[in-house]
Amino acid sequence: MSPEAERVLLVLSAPTGAGKTTIARRLLEADGALRFSVSHTTRPPRPGERDGVDYHFVDRAVFERRRELGEFLEWAEVHGNLYGTHRSETRRAAVEGRDLVLDIDVQGGLQVRRAWPSAVLVFILPPSLEVLLERLGARGREAGFDLRRRLETAARELAFAQQYDYNVVNEDLAVAVGEVLCILRSARTRPEARGVRRRQLADALETWLRSSDVPGE
Ligand code: 5GP
Repeated sequence: MSPEAERVLLVLSAPTGAGKTTIARRLLEADGALRFSVSHTTRPPRPGERDGVDYHFVDRAVFERRRELGEFLEWAEVHGNLYGTHRSETRRAAVEGRDLVLDIDVQGGLQVRRAWPSAVLVFILPPSLEVLLERLGARGREAGFDLRRRLETAARELAFAQQYDYNVVNEDLAVAVGEVLCILRSARTRPEARGVRRRQLADALETWLRSSDVPGE
């Protein structure tokens, strides 16, 4: 099994309503070597969300204790709730030989970059303001003050897009998913992701050279 450092960490961030969660779901369906990083959160579950699948739902005391123990690769407070990626997520991906997709906010994305410099950061952009407003308004779950708060957050988050490695516009879902898959596949060919193979090849070549009768200089 390849070591943890060889796994690709694919960070997806976006303003709410850009379609990031749908893209993440499609990526997981399209690529069997990908695993979803299940975050910890102190936010209560929404209808249909399952503990251990969508999130690990924990109370604030548990979250803070784990944070103090340094168990999170990154963490952030979003709309008054704490969210974090537990280090066991990357370990589990390595054991399974899979790469990890992290659906996290921009504060978290930039922490991942510092902790894991080879992480690939993808920011999903909505195609237009109209679409962003429509997607947010059409959700029906939030309105009024909450909608305004989310739009203000979206404006702040958009300012971080240029610090990401890639900006994918989600105008057409299939195209956007295709672009992220291309990014993932090219990340898998980086030297960081090929260390074991490279070392094995070099060792085998050394051994072969020692035992062969190819004349030296
Ligand atoms: P929601 O509560 O709507 O599921 O998520 C709110 C925001 O928190 C989203 O932008 C989501 O990507 C982000 N988020 C979810 N998990 C994490 C995490 O582990 N770390 C960080 N930094 N953000 C997260």
